[in-house]
Amino acid sequence: SIDFKWIRDNKDLVAANIENRKSGANLELVLQLYDKMLNLQKEVERLRAERNMVANKMKGKLEPSERQKLIEEGKNLKEGLVSLEENLLKLTDQLQQEAQCIPNITHPDVPIGGEDCSIIRKTVGSPREFGFSVKDHLELGKQLNLFDFDAAAEVSGSKFYYLKNAAVTLEMGLISWTLSEVMKRGFTPVITPEIVRSSVVEKCGFQPRGENTQVYSIEGSDQCLIGTAEIPVGGIHMDSILAESSLPLKYVAYSHCFRTEAGAAGAATRGLYRVHQFSKVEMFILCRPEDSESYLEELISIEEDLFTSLGLHFKTLDMASGDLGAPAYRKFDVEAWMPGLGRYGEISSASNCTDYQSRRLGIRYRPQEPIPTTSKKKSKGNLAPTQFIHTLNATACAVPRMIVCLLENYQQEDGSVIIPEPLRPFMGGLEIIAPTS
Ligand code: AMP
Repeated sequence: SIDFKWIRDNKDLVAANIENRKSGANLELVLQLYDKMLNLQKEVERLRAERNMVANKMKGKLEPSERQKLIEEGKNLKEGLVSLEENLLKLTDQLQQEAQCIPNITHPDVPIGGEDCSIIRKTVGSPREFGFSVKDHLELGKQLNLFDFDAAAEVSGSKFYYLKNAAVTLEMGLISWTLSEVMKRGFTPVITPEIVRSSVVEKCGFQPRGENTQVYSIEGSDQCLIGTAEIPVGGIHMDSILAESSLPLKYVAYSHCFRTEAGAAGAATRGLYRVHQFSKVEMFILCRPEDSESYLEELISIEEDLFTSLGLHFKTLDMASGDLGAPAYRKFDVEAWMPGLGRYGEISSASNCTDYQSRRLGIRYRPQEPIPTTSKKKSKGNLAPTQFIHTLNATACAVPRMIVCLLENYQQEDGSVIIPEPLRPFMGGLEIIAPTS
């Protein structure tokens, strides 16, 4: 449930936040619709009360003519009520639609502005020095017979790919290694459905419709393909009240992700960098509000540990307001050096969504009752009110971008590619990908 009263009472703050986050949300319209809805609700309540009064009068002794008059009156009231209730339902729907676009509030330390305003928080390593001219992942893949983009273009369309030979082993190895590393840190593994209801997509703060939607919808149904496992994992505890003792809930989910990539263009869209379907291992935490900032730190440090173990050179960025998307209160991206591409490329993103998703998904928790100070004090029936939990999500491994990174960073002069040591046990002991002929 979106807190419309709060939005109305904090109109200026919400408007400034919409501006800072370069969001297309229409606050004026939301407030107009909210007012209309409140008035309509009052009108519905008034008619209901009148109808009850008429029904009560009918219980008494009445002259036939009086009874007839009341029957007529009741009938009119009922008809009026049905049409008002229909209008109220439509209006509520429209209000929800418009309000979905209003972004979360923003952490006070977030830099205000566009992409360029993001702040580097940490740098690990430095670009590898090559004593030869580097190839990009496409050239390496061609020489090593790892991909087939041409067949995929025929079979599926552009921005699809077949992985072949050692690329398959590398994808599976990355997934297994990442899952095992994150599970070691106390996360519960899940494999999620990859088709979900549009309503769940919306509740997680994504737009399943519209011109620039990133979401593939299934025609003739109310379902979509997931763009990230954050959506089905967020939905696991939908409409429930969690026990405080069960928190935090930490999941690590493996799924495919499907994205239309509407509006994406340019050199960075070549090869595996930006594709319509990819595998991803995603971390997701549900926790008490007071703990979410420290869990964001934990998620970032897990990401940094994983990327350091793989020997990557990367920087962690505190993302600027214009780059947060709708659900995040704060977001840290990691960008790794991709020598073939000759630039840094985003490989992960960690967000604290505070109660933005839990309000819409209806996920609450009940704080434990304080231990009574005197034995006389009754604790039963005196339950603490429920509160919305906070949700966080973070990429553990976005597989195709990791493949780009590993191939380009670990290439040798002859075009072979060394496998970083931690991955080898997850790839049947493979140490090097070398040309087969
Ligand atoms: P996001 O859920 O948008 O934060 O994306 C998580 C990570 O997935 C990003 O940091 C990228 O590394 C990767 N990613 C996002 N979109 C694509 C895509 N279209 N193709 C390949 N990787 C992607």
